[in-house]
Amino acid sequence: MKPKQAKKLRDILLILGVVVMLMGAYHEAFFIAGAVLACSCIAVQFLFYKCPHCGKQLGRNEGTFCQFCGKRIDA
Ligand SMILES: [Zn+2]
Repeated sequence: MKPKQAKKLRDILLILGVVVMLMGAYHEAFFIAGAVLACSCIAVQFLFYKCPHCGKQLGRNEGTFCQFCGKRIDA
């Protein structure tokens, strides 16, 4: 998976997780399901949001270049 796709997937999971958690007002199960979704976005971030060149975690780097090897992330 490319870092760009991972970022997109992470954002979708986070938004979905928050929405489902808000539905927890109706039923507790929604809150738990939402929390799981929101947590899985962190897993996606750690597993797939890596530099395609050196393989290091990009962490909070939202830019175009890797902070370790200086190469383009989206290349
Ligand atoms: Zn790199």
